[in-house]
Amino acid sequence: MAAEADKVWDVAIVGSGFAGALIAHELGKGRKNVIILEAGAGIPPNFNAYIRRFYSAAAKVPESPYTPEIFGPDGLSDPNIVNAGRPTVLSVGPKGGFGDWTDPKQAYLIQKGPRPFASTYDRIAGGTSHWLGTCLRFVPNDFKMKSQYGQFADWPIEYKDLNSWYGEAEAELGVSGDVDEQTYLGVEFSPGYKYPMRKIPNSTTDQYVDKSLNTDPLAEDETQFLGMRTPPTTIPVRGVPAARNSEPYRNRRACAGNTNCIPICPIQAKYDPTITLNDARNTGFVKFAERTVASEVVVGQNGLISEIKFIRYKTDTGQRSESGSVKARVYVIAANAIETPRLLLMSKNGGRTARGVANTSDMVGRNLMDHPYYVAWGMSPEQIYPYRGPLITSGIGDLCDGPFRRERAAFRVDIGNEGWNFVVGGDPNVTTLDFVNGLNRSGLNPRSNSPLGNEALFGKQLADRLNEKFTRQFRCGFLIEQTPDPDNRVTLADFNDGLGLPRPQISYNLSDYTRRGFITAHRMKDLLFRKMRLTEFTRIDPDDPSRFEEEIDGKPVSLNYIGAGHVMGTCRMGDDPKQSVVDKFQRSHDHKNLYLVGSSTFPTGATANPTLTIAALSLRTAKHILDNDFRR
Ligand SMILES: Cc1cc2nc3c(=O)[nH]c(=O)nc-3n(C[C@H](O)[C@H](O)[C@H](O)COP(=O)(O)OP(=O)(O)OC[C@H]3O[C@@H](n4cnc5c(N)ncnc54)[C@H](O)[C@@H]3O)c2cc1C
Ligand code: SF4
Repeated sequence: MAAEADKVWDVAIVGSGFAGALIAHELGKGRKNVIILEAGAGIPPNFNAYIRRFYSAAAKVPESPYTPEIFGPDGLSDPNIVNAGRPTVLSVGPKGGFGDWTDPKQAYLIQKGPRPFASTYDRIAGGTSHWLGTCLRFVPNDFKMKSQYGQFADWPIEYKDLNSWYGEAEAELGVSGDVDEQTYLGVEFSPGYKYPMRKIPNSTTDQYVDKSLNTDPLAEDETQFLGMRTPPTTIPVRGVPAARNSEPYRNRRACAGNTNCIPICPIQAKYDPTITLNDARNTGFVKFAERTVASEVVVGQNGLISEIKFIRYKTDTGQRSESGSVKARVYVIAANAIETPRLLLMSKNGGRTARGVANTSDMVGRNLMDHPYYVAWGMSPEQIYPYRGPLITSGIGDLCDGPFRRERAAFRVDIGNEGWNFVVGGDPNVTTLDFVNGLNRSGLNPRSNSPLGNEALFGKQLADRLNEKFTRQFRCGFLIEQTPDPDNRVTLADFNDGLGLPRPQISYNLSDYTRRGFITAHRMKDLLFRKMRLTEFTRIDPDDPSRFEEEIDGKPVSLNYIGAGHVMGTCRMGDDPKQSVVDKFQRSHDHKNLYLVGSSTFPTGATANPTLTIAALSLRTAKHILDNDFRR
């Protein structure tokens, strides 16, 4: 790199996740010389390096297969000494305990509360393999919350502006889906459009949910609470499109259906950005600089970005090895909705941009959103055979838009195919250990009246009992729309990482609007469980930091949430430079050669997982850069 210090690249990109990889590939195909600065370690030459790390990990969490190491010698790695740290789901624990969410020596994010921000992200494209692969389009009204429902803000673009870009993104990611099934709530496709692959079949669990909800019409007074235009008498269970091969696609194999998609698909049947990143490098125009952390975006005297400074390191916790900078005509920050505002806020240019770069609106870092994920689980009276297929194949999407959005947050329902795998902390292991050792961590082996207490079984009795229990486990989750709230924000902490750079500080809460969405989700859970004749086992620990209480239908109810991993909103897009950070092409209002890409630019969060929309917007921005910034 030192030899190239004076080189002026066409485009410098910070971050090699979905957004960075897709843009680099498009620009590389357009014969632009591109450099990517990536904070994380490089992609290993053999993908099995990730798999080996996952197999040997004591805790099988989304971050397990990837670097940096989650554990240090004394527990969780100390984020003060890790060079390019990241949050982990293990650091959203109760105060005073393991993974205390407020302890800067355990949690990378400095959390100011009042509630924990529970989502995580990873480093380098391979790390983004942790995703599930769900690839839903937004519904048209998701772009028009202000004009349709008087809430928050409209996007400066509409569904029709993204329709063809969604198609391009689906081709690049390799999405399996069914057009007829996805044509609902105003979602349209270009004439003759087909998903790149046929849909993955509904699981046996999906079929049971559908049968339970829709064999007999629902009574209107049962669904009145949803606040739809008319109370629905059917609630369709629809397949969920996913970047997962239902047949061989672009030299990758078809899904083998063994439910390990988060954190890693061992056979890469699920798309991850290493695929596009390798294609980008193969264009011959894209150079990749790993373990290279962008530390300051420099603004020249003409108001354009003139360079990006970086720090290079050799090992996760070792000393820095090199500092330098890259110069380019165009700069793209694709560092996700926490690290992008962090970098912009760190870039003070000796006080010339004291509020940070691209921040004359004071909107950088504000309006942080997730889809707080409310999870419930139970035992079905019939065998529904979970632990087969991808983690999720279907859901309930039809309840995510309607007049109720004037009053409360929308939600979408996921139907899990992984039994109680993550909700009890690692089934099938937890339940097996319960019945071998006479314990009851799963709740399935309660103390009987016999003096022997919990059952401890072996041989055929053990196998029969486990088969009988595992085949009836059910889990669902509600992705709740979150209010863009300026006080939910990323700022800079007084605590540094191993490179001496300030770590992200997070203020986070749930608004009344969002909490009303939780209340309706809880009622929907009751309806679903009643129709499915489930025995509920949902448990919320008393010291769970995300726990909160509501009175629902005259009864006190405890609710909680986990992070969906959908970090959004901190550099919002809009037409008004006073109210937004980037324009409709994700170009900074303040600096015309700077683009900020990824879900940080989402003005509102909808209920669909964000990555397909990130990908569609990234492809649109790449075209804009090629057409506008390099016009002869
Ligand atoms: C468990 C889990 C499951 C998920 N499942 C789904 C799903 O099914 N569907 C869906 O749509 N979404 C899903 N998501 C969300 C999805 O992973 C994100 O939307 C996506 O990763 C965002 O892509 P990105 O490119 O914007 O950011 P990232 O993937 O976070 O990439 C940002 C990159 O920038 C690098 N970077 C950051 N700062 C710097 C710096 N200063 N210098 C250099 N490099 C830097 C990072 O190291 C990283 O490689 C899931 C997330 C999680 C955690
Ligand atoms: S079910 Fe298995 S093969 Fe299919 S995408 Fe998930 S991890 Fe990969």
